[in-house]
Amino acid sequence: RAKSAGGNRFELADAEADARAITRHGLTTALPTALDRGEFFIEYQPLVHLGDGSVRGAEALVRWLHPQHGVLGPDRFIPLAEHTGLIVPLGRWVLEQSVRQAKEWRERHAGTATAPLRINVNLSPCQLTHPGLVQDTVDILETAGVDPDALCLEVTESALIGADDDLLKPLRRLAEMGVDIALDDFGTGYSNLANLRRLPVSVLKLDRSFTQSMQQFPADPVDLKIVDGIVSLAHSLNLAVTVEGVETGAQAEQLRILGCDTAQGWYYARPGPPERLHELAMADASG
Ligand code: C2E
Ligand code: MG
Ligand code: MG
Ligand code: MG
Repeated sequence: RAKSAGGNRFELADAEADARAITRHGLTTALPTALDRGEFFIEYQPLVHLGDGSVRGAEALVRWLHPQHGVLGPDRFIPLAEHTGLIVPLGRWVLEQSVRQAKEWRERHAGTATAPLRINVNLSPCQLTHPGLVQDTVDILETAGVDPDALCLEVTESALIGADDDLLKPLRRLAEMGVDIALDDFGTGYSNLANLRRLPVSVLKLDRSFTQSMQQFPADPVDLKIVDGIVSLAHSLNLAVTVEGVETGAQAEQLRILGCDTAQGWYYARPGPPERLHELAMADASG
């Protein structure tokens, strides 16, 4: 009996693995045409100043409206796009759309109390090693008529661990032009803290796991000390600190007290269409 039950379990597991592999294969082959067919779209999540609660910008997060599977999150297809190389044209498309969107918000908000919105765009490690990165970025900003300091490129900490000078060169050029570079998911990659000064970054994005440890009020004293230490170190290196995954007012309050500069999370807003970001920024400027 036990043996046949085990057999069934294995069969089930095999079937699931097969289904996943088939989907993965299907998604991979559908990726290139998806870009041509306009199946990707971008949602924007506000970046909020912890001191005064104002919306200062947004992070662009790509989604795929798949004709059969519905809306797919980036975790489902970015790894496939990286594997096939489609990430380079897809990433360029995301950058172009997001920069144009920032231009539109800035024009609409000119003359209002709203701070000029900035735009954060995620960069995959494959884009970092692509020789066109700097020129593409310059072209996109110039064509849209957007100042480089309106743009922040997010690179994960793990992508820069052990990075040599060749990898850092394009980021340095972009930073010299005024583009901000943020170290995304900071605190998950076991990077050498002393290494931070070598990187051309101006923003640390503290990973969601730190925010989760602020669930209780007051939070565990050791967790508070760890975040306090990271924030102090970041500020002493002239880096701004953004926190991800803020879901409650208690988390926001503790992170504000700890000196974090900017916050992002469901407590403020889920990622949404550009119009929603516009409304949030305006509501906050008039209220
Ligand atoms: P990320 O850059 O760390 O983005 C933050 C993720 O946290 C987003 O997931 C966002 O929807 C989610 N999030 C925001 N607030 C909360 C919250 O309060 N609670 C929780 N639990 N989650 C929250 P999403 O949109 O699924 O994106 C996942 C990852 O995919 C991103 O992580 C980023 O690494 C990658 N990604 C997204 N768009 C792009 C893109 O255009 N290019 C590249 N290369 N990667 C992208
Ligand atoms: Mg990010
Ligand atoms: Mg992040
Ligand atoms: Mg993250």
